[in-house]
Parts: sequence; structure tokens; C-alpha cells
Amino acid sequence: MVRKTKSKSIKIKIISRIIALLVILFVIVDIIFAYSFRQESINEAKIRSQTIANIVRDSLTSLMVMGVMQNRKIFISRLKKDAKRVDVQNISIIRGSLVNKQFGKGFKSEEPANGYQEYVLTAGKKIEKLNETFNTVKYRVIIPYKATSSGAVDCLMCHKVKSGAVLGAISLQMNLTSVRDATFRTIVSTSIIFFVFLIVLVLIFFRFLSPYISLFQKIESGLENLKDGDMDKALVDEKGVPDDEAGKVAVTLNETSKSLKEILSDIESKVSTLIGYTVVKTDNYLKDTIKIINELVRIYNFKRVIEKDRTKNEIIKRIEGIVKDYMCFENYTIYEVGDNNKMAVETLGSKIKLGADDMWCKKSITADGDLCRAKRTGSDVDSLNFSCICPSFAFSSFDESGAGGACANQFNYYCIPIYIGGKVGAILQLIFDDDVADFVHWMIPYIKSYLAEASPVIESRKLMELLKEQSIVDQLTGMYNRRFLDESSENIIAGINRRGTNLGVLMLDIDHFKEVNDKYGHDNGDVVLKNVSKEIKKSIRSSDIAVRFGGEEFIALLIDIKEGEGIVIAEKIRKAVESSPLEIAGGVVLRKTISIGVCEYPIDSDKFWQAVKFADVALYEAKENGRNRVVRFSKDMWKEEGY
Ligand code: GH3
Ligand code: MG
Ligand code: MG
Repeated sequence: MVRKTKSKSIKIKIISRIIALLVILFVIVDIIFAYSFRQESINEAKIRSQTIANIVRDSLTSLMVMGVMQNRKIFISRLKKDAKRVDVQNISIIRGSLVNKQFGKGFKSEEPANGYQEYVLTAGKKIEKLNETFNTVKYRVIIPYKATSSGAVDCLMCHKVKSGAVLGAISLQMNLTSVRDATFRTIVSTSIIFFVFLIVLVLIFFRFLSPYISLFQKIESGLENLKDGDMDKALVDEKGVPDDEAGKVAVTLNETSKSLKEILSDIESKVSTLIGYTVVKTDNYLKDTIKIINELVRIYNFKRVIEKDRTKNEIIKRIEGIVKDYMCFENYTIYEVGDNNKMAVETLGSKIKLGADDMWCKKSITADGDLCRAKRTGSDVDSLNFSCICPSFAFSSFDESGAGGACANQFNYYCIPIYIGGKVGAILQLIFDDDVADFVHWMIPYIKSYLAEASPVIESRKLMELLKEQSIVDQLTGMYNRRFLDESSENIIAGINRRGTNLGVLMLDIDHFKEVNDKYGHDNGDVVLKNVSKEIKKSIRSSDIAVRFGGEEFIALLIDIKEGEGIVIAEKIRKAVESSPLEIAGGVVLRKTISIGVCEYPIDSDKFWQAVKFADVALYEAKENGRNRVVRFSKDMWKEEGY
């Protein structure tokens, strides 16, 4: 934001201060001038009055010496006439009492006219008075004449008085109005000259200062924009900029802005390449760069966290966290695509009731992954491109009456395939309403960058899980192997103990299996093994555990059974195997049976491996008693001392 008013006020401030200073200076100069002129004119009046007094004194003395003192009236009237011409008025010569006493009374005009004159004659002191009114300035003075014997003429030769005695006085008045008027006129004319000069000065100053003020405003605006990170607007228009140090500041500011813009753009583009997308750009390079760096840090942190996660599911949960908590999606699904091309819901969010299947897609995709368009095509599926782009979305309705069978989605969806090990291993499905469609599309690159980071980590965890599974699962039958039993028996027993339930331990062995191998070959023997293991798995609950214990021997662990239930389930398995003939190559139908020994933990034994052993003992009994049967362990079967 540019604060133009502030710059303007600076301009006014400078000018007003200069004007104020000059006016003050002018006023002071004028006061000094007026005062000096006044003082000078007063001094001049004093000198002139003293000069007139001296001339009068000397003239009267001459008249006296020449003995024509009676003619002094003519002299005085001439003097008055001449003095008027030089603004000297009211000249009167006053005769002192001592002179009157010696020579007799003088003319009427020579008598003191007022108290001042009497005072001067008595006291022998000069009185002067300046009378300044609006219209006139008058200087009045009464100067005494004192008898002296030391001058050119010895007064005491004629006057019978003591030295210093007052002989008379001269009173006169000088009109200084013209001097004051002249001073006033001078001040007025100099003021006019001054103000004209001031106006010219202001104009010159404005003209000189304008480009600097304008540059200052541009630089201020540029810096404001630079602070806001808008490097383009920060550039100062160099046209009309003064070609001096001030101009160089503008050029340097522009170079700084350009270089900063280049650096920030470079950082932004490099980080964009690194994270695989770019942030929505504004004009603010600084904020854009901070935004993209923050994204980089967030993704880096995400990567660091998931790298420490141990299982694929934990990573899926982290992706869910990003989608749900960071990006605020309420409706979503993460599907996993199994090796058998079946899809399973790994995690799901929904703000509405989803119906019996509890899925955003139709249940059919769990059986055939190719029904999922994102899985099949390996590319993004956006319902906003074509409504009903994927027929497997559960919340679409087809309007058959419309041309070509128009379709309406109750919700929008965007499905992103996640590549794991070179093929689509998972799908992230986002469900959203129309009002947030733009936001979702804006978010897609962000989400993809997280998925891109997660994908190789999921792949690695999946591989690890596969390796682990392979080491505990028998590859022929898909049942757990003995190693699994060794690793997990403690946990299984701990669960049974915690819940206070029973564990059915079934030891199963195919009857006369060797014959199959011998008669039909090892491969057909494998087929029988697979078939029997399938029947065993089918006959027990999914929470139960089926183990290939070795060769053609299996263990089934029946979790949380009721007492005596073990034998019932064993019988169910036996019957299932018995009633599932198997046709092998050459049209031969094999009917195999199994024998099962049953032991219940903790009823028959409170030690797991002892229970296994007792089940084996019961199995032996079943074999001994003719095979294809179920035998529950009883204490009498255990002939040995200890275990
Ligand atoms: P019984 O009724 O007493 O159990 O007789 P049987 O023949 O089943 O018992 P026996 O223990 O004598 O034979 C088990 C045979 O199972 C021996 C072995 O060759 C075979 N066998 C073990 N593992 C496999 C396997 O993985 N595949 C095949 N085809 N045969 C196997
Ligand atoms: Mg055997
Ligand atoms: Mg056998």
C-alpha cells in the first residue's frame, strides 16, 4: 500500500518550513531596519536641533556683540521660515530671568510659554520628547543656553552672571512624520519584492524538488511492494528519474527487486520439481516461496514419519490422516488391490449411511478389480469429466428416459490409482459435493505428492510383509507352517487365558496317504494335500488357525470353543474330507479320509505343547482304531510318566 499523503505532507513540510524561516527572517530584518531607521532619525533630529540651537546662540551672541540685539526679531522670523522648510517648527527663543534682570524684559514671545520651558530655565536641563501618534511623529526639544567663559566668546564679558547660569533656552519641534512614512514605504516596497521573490523561490523549489518527491514516492511504493513480496510492482519507473545519486537509488532498488524475484522464482521452481507440483501462484513471490518451502517441509516430514512405520497399514492410516485431518475430506476410501485382482477396503470415511455393502463403490469390485475404472486404466477417474464415468460407483443413478441414458451422481468422486511395484496396488477415492469441487481439483496435486512419497514405502513394507508371510505360510496349502506355530503359540495361549476360554487342539493326518504318492505320483499327492487343507479351512472359523504341521499332518487350533466342542468340529472336518472326492488326471476319483486326535486346552492340559502332544496321542489312537475317525484325548491314553 502506498501512503501518498505522507509524501505530500513531506513536500508541504519542507516548503512551509522554508517559507516560515524566510518570513521570520524578513520580519526580523524589517523590525531591525524600522528600529534602526527610527533611532537614526531621532539621532538626526537631536543633532539638527542642537545645530539649530548653536546657530541661534551664535547668531544672538553676534547681534549682541554688534549692539543690534533689538533687531533679533527679524533674525528669528527668518530662522522660523527657513526651518519650516526642513520640518522644524515652533521655534521660540526664551529669555532667562537673569538676562531680564540685567537688560530688562524682552519681547512677549520670549517669555516661557509653559511649565517645561520654565523648568529648563530654572533647572538648566534639556527636555526632549518624542510624540508618536498614528498620523504624526514629532520630536520636541527645549535646550538651555548657559553662560560660559571657556568658549570662543566669553559670555561673562557682557552678562553679569555666574558661569553656568541659564541665560535662556530655545524650544523647537521637528516633524519626523515624513521620515517614518519613508521608512514605511521602504518596508512595503521591500515586502512586495520579498514576497514576489518568495513565490518565485517556491516555484523554483517545487520545480526542482518535484522529481525527487516523485522518486521518493515511487521508491516508498516500491519498498512497500517489496516488503509484501510483489517484486513486479516493486519496480520503480525509471522514466524522469533524476540522473544523480537519487536516481541511482531507484536503479539499485530495481536491480535488487529483479535479483530477488529471480532467486525466489528459482527456489520455487526447484522445490516444485522436487515435490512434483507447484503451489497456486499469487503476485507475491515471497509468500509463494514460503508456501512451497512449507509444503516441502511437510512432505519431507511425512516421508520421514512413514519411513519409520513398520507396516503397510500404518502408512495407509497416515495417508488417511492427511486426507481426513489435513485436507478435511469426510468421505473417502482407500482400497487395496490384491494379487488376485480383488479389491479390499483398507479404510473408509463417510458422513452418510452407506447401506448394506458399507462401501462407496459397488461390492462387485471386491471380487473383480477390473470393474474399478481407476484400477483397470491406471489413471485418475474424475466424475466431473463425465458423469457416471465409472459404473461401479454406488451412488449414481441412470435416467433411462434421457437421450443416451443420462446419468446423475449423487456425489462427485475422484479416484487416484497408487502404483506399487509397477502396477496399481491401491486406489484413493475422494467423494465430494459440487461446492468444493474446485477446491478438490486444486488439492489433487498436493495429495498426489503425498501418495508419490508413500508409494515406494508401501511397496517396501508390502514386500517385507510378503517375505514374513512366506516364512510363516506353507506355500502348497496356504496354511500357516510350524514356524508360525512356534512364534505365535504364546500369544494364542495368552489370549485364551485372558478371555478365560478354551482352545481346541486338533491333530489331523491323512489316512494312507503314502498310497496316493505311490500309485498316482507325487503331484497328485500334492493335489490331495491341497484339497484336504481346503476342506479343513472351510470347516473351521476364520478366526481359527490351520497349520500344516509337517508332511500330511495338520493342526487346527479352534479359538474360544466351549468345552467338548473340539470333537464336534473335528467330526465336521472329518465328514467334509470324507465327502469330497477328488478327481485327478485320467478320470480317477480319489476318496481320502482323515483321522483326527482332539485335545482341549486347558481342560486336558494346561500346557500348549503338551496339548499338541496329547492331540497327537489321540490321533494315534484314531489310527490304531481303524482310521477315518475322531478321538478325543483321555488321560488313560498317556502311558508315559511325565511329559
Ligand atoms: P497313515 O494312514 O498311517 O497315516 O498312513 P500314511 O501313508 O498316510 O502315513 P506315512 O507317514 O507312512 O506317509 C506319509 C507320506 O506323506 C510320506 C511322504 O512321502 C508323504 N508326504 C509328506 N509330505 C508330502 C508332500 O508335501 N507331498 C506329497 N505328495 N507327499 C508328501
Ligand atoms: Mg502322517
Ligand atoms: Mg497319514
